[in-house]
Amino acid sequence: MGARRPPAPGSAELAAIYTELDALYANASCLNSTRCCQLRRYGHVPLVFEVEGRRAIAGVMRRGGRLPLEGEIGDCPLLLRSGACSVYADRPFGCRTFYCADATLPDGPRRAEVQALAMQLRALAERLGDSDLRPLTNVLDDAFDDDGKAKFSKARRRTT
Ligand code: SF4
Repeated sequence: MGARRPPAPGSAELAAIYTELDALYANASCLNSTRCCQLRRYGHVPLVFEVEGRRAIAGVMRRGGRLPLEGEIGDCPLLLRSGACSVYADRPFGCRTFYCADATLPDGPRRAEVQALAMQLRALAERLGDSDLRPLTNVLDDAFDDDGKAKFSKARRRTT
């Protein structure tokens, strides 16, 4: 049996931040309009730190190493035809914040707590030495080719 790979740097801290963030939005309702994932149409792209990009890529690698590319042109490459996110458990901070006007937040937007978690995430990225925010789509372009297939050496390097 092969040796178990050590977890990627910062992965436990990132998981803890995501867990706290999800708890803040536990009562949010989403209409599944997928507006947040129709990047070109609505003029936004999630910005991610490298540690987040690494986790999203690891999510793709676990489901076969290929981007689904099932949305319309300009949609997030991780969007499935069904409207679901193919890396839901590994989606970045921004995608977890229900910023879309279609969503309702019964408890109100808990800005201070979300901001505090965003600062924790930045501090983690700084500690890891990669605190530049990059568009998620650029991160995916670096790791996957035009057909959505992993550029193996690069993707592997970024997820280990
Ligand atoms: S990562 Fe997932 S939730 Fe975020 S924009 Fe892409 S498909 Fe949507």
